[in-house]
Amino acid sequence: MATEKYICELCGSNEFVTKPNHFDLFSAEDGKLIFQESMLVEDDSPTELFCFECDEKLEFDDEDLEF
Ligand SMILES: [Zn+2]
Repeated sequence: MATEKYICELCGSNEFVTKPNHFDLFSAEDGKLIFQESMLVEDDSPTELFCFECDEKLEFDDEDLEF
């Protein structure tokens, strides 16, 4: 029986979802936090993958990504 290279260490799932780097920008104004915009951080940092089932972060090799 072949062993999967990538499998969640916690729950054994082999499905993972990306969670791109992004943040929502708020600015403080008159004692409130005003939502400004959602920003995507565009850089060359590798996509991060998390277990679809339990959110455990997956360590993986960029070269193994296929699209
Ligand atoms: Zn998992």
